[in-house]
Amino acid sequence: MALLTLDSLALHRADRWHLRGISFEIQPGEAWGIVGESGAGKTTLMNLILGLLEPTSGQVLLSGEAWSGIPEKVRRPRRPGIQALFQDPLASLPPHMTGFEILEEPLVIHARGDRKARRQAAVEIAERVRFPESALDQKPHQWSGGLAQRLALARALMLSPKILVLDEPLSALDPTLAGHMLELLLELKADGMAMLFVSHDLLAVRHLCDRLLVLFGGEMMAKGPTRSMLSELRHPYLRGLWEAVPNLEISSQPRRWGVERARDLEPGGCLLMDRCPSASDHCKSAPGLDQDERCHHPWTAQVVRDGV
Ligand code: SF4
Repeated sequence: MALLTLDSLALHRADRWHLRGISFEIQPGEAWGIVGESGAGKTTLMNLILGLLEPTSGQVLLSGEAWSGIPEKVRRPRRPGIQALFQDPLASLPPHMTGFEILEEPLVIHARGDRKARRQAAVEIAERVRFPESALDQKPHQWSGGLAQRLALARALMLSPKILVLDEPLSALDPTLAGHMLELLLELKADGMAMLFVSHDLLAVRHLCDRLLVLFGGEMMAKGPTRSMLSELRHPYLRGLWEAVPNLEISSQPRRWGVERARDLEPGGCLLMDRCPSASDHCKSAPGLDQDERCHHPWTAQVVRDGV
């Protein structure tokens, strides 16, 4: 059974769609990457999955049971099953608490173990994320950004979640520390942890994620296996995101995303019409929300070769 199911998830507020038609499932040990530029709907999607927002239609299921549309008092005992790690560890950790107190707090809130057992669990989880035990008596301002992010990951693991929701967890780290964090996430995935990895970093997504979902304007543009999506780059928007990654050589770049203004947006048309170099009159009618690849003119080897 899927750990997390999103079924036609949508959020409509203040006369506009913030998100719509989002459907996918996360299996145990599977990592999904969620990519898209700022304003694509990534944070809204994350908040709906964490139960911090309620969808206006569609539903979220956790291990096959309703997770959205239920009272918080019903949801609360199940919250340990899905935990989050945010972008800025120092902003998300309480500055007045020591490492031990931060790690033990979730166990206190959920009434797990006695004092001795909680302390032992904190030491074990810190060791698992390679956070030095000697620093557990310190407070967040005494740690480097890398240590703070490890402690934040340790806190997310204290309640033994089945799913981790990761919001740009590498963006505040320098490349070496980001590499260490990525290694830790790969180890957790190998142990069966499911993950939702929200990121701008397509290289990290390629490294960690089995499946990929591309968002734009609150709509899913494409989803599927990460490896083939990022090697074939069939969807013009994904190709554009990939071309924007610095220092990457792409063997053939016949047209650059967003350089030409193809045409104006049409009501009911593809949201990418005004930026997409492949847009045609067909795109005045948007591809269906139920398609995995929402594009009338995906890039193929033929298109790339001929530049048509
Ligand atoms: S449907 Fe048309 S405008 Fe939209 S991404 Fe595909 S080619 Fe571009």
